[in-house]
Amino acid sequence: CTEIYFRIHNDLLPVGGQTREYGERLLATLYGAMTSVSDSSYKPTERQDASIADRDKLPPELYGVRIATVPTNEGSLMVLRLLYNDVGENLDLGSLGFSAQQVSDLQRLKEQPIGMNIISGPTGSGKSTTLQRVLNGQILEGEGKLHVLTIEDPVEYPIEGAVQTTVTNAHTEEERSRLFSAAISNAMRLDPDTIMIGEIRDRASAQNALRASMTGHQIWTTLHANSALAIVDRLIDLGLQQSLVLDHTVITGLISQRLVKQLCPHCKRPLLAHLDQVPAALLARLRQVIPDRLQDVCISGPGCEFCSHRGTIGRTVVAEVIVPDESFFRHLRMGEKCQAWRYWKESLGGRSIVDHALDKVVAGLIDPAMAEKVVGHFQGAVAASVHHLHVVEADGAA
Ligand SMILES: [Zn+2]
Repeated sequence: CTEIYFRIHNDLLPVGGQTREYGERLLATLYGAMTSVSDSSYKPTERQDASIADRDKLPPELYGVRIATVPTNEGSLMVLRLLYNDVGENLDLGSLGFSAQQVSDLQRLKEQPIGMNIISGPTGSGKSTTLQRVLNGQILEGEGKLHVLTIEDPVEYPIEGAVQTTVTNAHTEEERSRLFSAAISNAMRLDPDTIMIGEIRDRASAQNALRASMTGHQIWTTLHANSALAIVDRLIDLGLQQSLVLDHTVITGLISQRLVKQLCPHCKRPLLAHLDQVPAALLARLRQVIPDRLQDVCISGPGCEFCSHRGTIGRTVVAEVIVPDESFFRHLRMGEKCQAWRYWKESLGGRSIVDHALDKVVAGLIDPAMAEKVVGHFQGAVAASVHHLHVVEADGAA
């Protein structure tokens, strides 16, 4: 048989079954008739990637669809990533969930002409939306005087006023890597002010991005790393020279973000009135980290008309934004990772992603249990940051 699911705000929702034959026809049609790859024959026994970019074949709300298929023991799996054209005119980073301080830090990064700003987070953490708003804002504020170029694989969202290029026709990971780093290197010849690189996945792209930053461009990109500080690890892991990475005139912004479901304002419940619904261990952690604020904490309610009986309405960003300075990177160069972290928090007023999540918990915006699923235990997450610091240390010594 065929099973169909939607993923809504990160949860899979079954939407009904069909016969196996129906499913096979559906997959073959989606792949064969809709996608824009050169060889569009669907092969159920192979892994295939494609995208639907032809707007005539899509409803107006969709900008594109990414397709990935994989054969399994029991048949085929196809995953469609629907790219919504829903950002519109809203350029406000605060409405995504960034704090006022983070918005002002991002604004500062947007306004300085050079430097590389890197956003980390897993797939589905809202990185592309943040990038799109940053660049849209920059283009509007630049009043048409800025040349913004993007290199993507494929283009995820339309950015009006930017020159968006895509690296396509790569059949293997090696080929993709070669084409992608060549595109970054080529981009520098086109005299852009800002280059947005969809994602850095390998050494060649990382090196070219760094070179672009060092030759007077502003770079925005994304990277898979567990925290803002772990971005540094990852770049060094990819083979970049530590002395170049730990230079605050080259790497200007380290950002990490996740999305947490936002409580429905109509049916959320005060934690203290529903203690029986909170695991004892979580309650103990909350008593430890926010002993005076428990009365402000809310948990997910039963659902209502307003939230379509989900208990939550959309998702909000929790993030950490490090704008490194000379002293911060000097600590890292000397292998003093914990001091660097402490310096960021105490002298630069840094707020970690866990701090940001806790702010939203005491504002009654997010459920503490849902927040912990995303940022880790409120106690443990502090230890986790320190764990990342040790990873950096090991790399630095190597
Ligand atoms: Zn509700």
